[in-house]
Amino acid sequence: MDQLISINAAQRANTSCSALSAVSDIALDLANIVFNSTQEAIVVTDNRGTVIGVNPAFTAITGYSALEIVGKNMRSLQSGRHQKSFYQDIWSHVTRSGYWQGEIWNRRKHGDVYPALLTISSVRNRVGEPTYYVGTSVDLSRIKKSELELDHFAHHDELTQLPNRRSLLLRLNQALERANKESVTGAVIFVDLDRFKLVNDSLGHGAGDELLTLAAQRIKEALRANDFMARFGGDEFIVLLEQATRNAAEKVAASLIKRLSKPFVLSSGHEVCIGASVGMSFFPGDSNNPETLLQQADTALYQAKTAGKSTHRSYSPDLTAGASVRLTLEIQLRRALDRNELALHYQPLVSLADKQIFGFEALLRWDDPARGLVPPADFLPVAEETGLMVPIGGWVLQSACAQMRRIIDQGGSVTSMAVNISARQIRHPEFAASVVTALHKASLAPQYLELEITEGALVSNDDATIATLSFLRSIGVRIAIDDFGTGYSSLSYLKKLPFDTLKIDRSFVTDIGSDAVSKAIVTAVISLAQCLGREVLAEGIESEQQRELLLASGCTLGQGYLFSPPVSENALLGLSGLKRRDRLTPTICARD
Ligand code: C2E
Ligand code: MG
Ligand code: MG
Repeated sequence: MDQLISINAAQRANTSCSALSAVSDIALDLANIVFNSTQEAIVVTDNRGTVIGVNPAFTAITGYSALEIVGKNMRSLQSGRHQKSFYQDIWSHVTRSGYWQGEIWNRRKHGDVYPALLTISSVRNRVGEPTYYVGTSVDLSRIKKSELELDHFAHHDELTQLPNRRSLLLRLNQALERANKESVTGAVIFVDLDRFKLVNDSLGHGAGDELLTLAAQRIKEALRANDFMARFGGDEFIVLLEQATRNAAEKVAASLIKRLSKPFVLSSGHEVCIGASVGMSFFPGDSNNPETLLQQADTALYQAKTAGKSTHRSYSPDLTAGASVRLTLEIQLRRALDRNELALHYQPLVSLADKQIFGFEALLRWDDPARGLVPPADFLPVAEETGLMVPIGGWVLQSACAQMRRIIDQGGSVTSMAVNISARQIRHPEFAASVVTALHKASLAPQYLELEITEGALVSNDDATIATLSFLRSIGVRIAIDDFGTGYSSLSYLKKLPFDTLKIDRSFVTDIGSDAVSKAIVTAVISLAQCLGREVLAEGIESEQQRELLLASGCTLGQGYLFSPPVSENALLGLSGLKRRDRLTPTICARD
């Protein structure tokens, strides 16, 4: 800085030759310093491109010392990656404008090529002829490498290193353009591993990751070099056959299923059998839109899953007709189960006298990313119709028991977890076993669990159901009859049925203060329960008046918005630490 100030001062003074020569000495020194210390490679050539000087950075980047390169032509650095015309264009630009800047591939002394940002300036004599050329360049290899890495990261799946969804969509777009231009057909093959979740849940995520990598390899091995494969997400892979008939694609699908059905041996020594299902759509026939094609292949995939897994299906347009609305919901529901989109909310069960919480009812919610929280009435009927209620119900049981365990472990004082059971679920031959498993997994005593069964699910009076409930009750599980009073059934089943609690349906509670009939039904149900020696709990209590009337009629337990709506798991833990409140022992009417 001092030197620069003194140069400016000297320029201003500009009085004598000696002062000028001092200035040019300093300027030369400075140029020398810059030349020798800059990180940019500098090369000076004569007007034929013969090197006459290089700086240390040039040596560091190219590997050529000044001795080795001076006297040689700049062509020594050419990488062989550019056409002759590329260099001709550069030089014609430099000749015209005295300057060129751009990216170029050069070759280092030891042979490797590297990208550089090169600037060439010409130095002209007084009559404007170029006498020297000065080239300055920056080695871009590190920047390029990180750019490439970033690009790879953005387009590949980290675990399997396969192209990701984004790359798939790009590639599918190109494939569609080509298929339309060249009038060829191609296939989108959607592969979903069948029992991956089981491995992931039982052996841990490390094993799951290893399995995904091995499965990806197997799929890859079944493909030709120019077939494209991507990881779509989770245990889903997409194979894109850019030129394939229906027949050829079906053969590929069958071979993938066969390969994936063979056992995988993990590094832990575990041998796992998973299998895969496949759905296919064809372009441009089924659609010209990449997203739609993927959706169609997905729909076909879920048809394959419904058909019993380890099989393949092709998309057919009738799937989009009216009947498919249910199927779509079913597909989404299956997906929801796989993707953990189902959640339980918990509504407190309280003692009406002091509003103390003694238990919770687990209520199912579907946290659909597109629709938000879906209430059970919107999806349980489809689940029930399609048999999905059995796995969903199993999940509910296990989750609710696990939740009860957490409450106990955290010192919570509630003593009851009520779980709703559907008609289909209760008739499933494995139902009792699934209850025992859920209790066992959560290390939960059966007394904590109450199963709520609607009157409607019990009317058929079948012995198998009664036997199942009797067994469960014999081990200590409590049984409640839900929505009591709405089943239009004969009360005779109450004689045979093992149960502990009657839940008075909300429809009667709502009108208890205003409608004499509702009040009479409620009173009758309460005395019926008392006479049978059972508990009675009123649902849907929303006002103090209802609470007081119920209490006055002898109902001691209830639930409803007056106390709390169903709350999420997180909110529940805050509620469950309340003081212990044992259930009241019901009064038993003396027999005549
Ligand atoms: P439910 O077993 O009778 O459950 C009580 C329903 O009443 C719940 O509706 C609850 O949110 C609602 N509720 C509670 N207190 C009040 C109140 O004060 N006012 C009003 N207006 N509503 C109240 P949700 O959660 O929509 O459940 C509806 C039904 O779906 C349940 O009726 C039950 O039959 C069924 N369900 C819920 N979860 C499951 C499940 O995991 N399995 C089966 N099989 N069925 C379930
Ligand atoms: Mg219920
Ligand atoms: Mg109910």
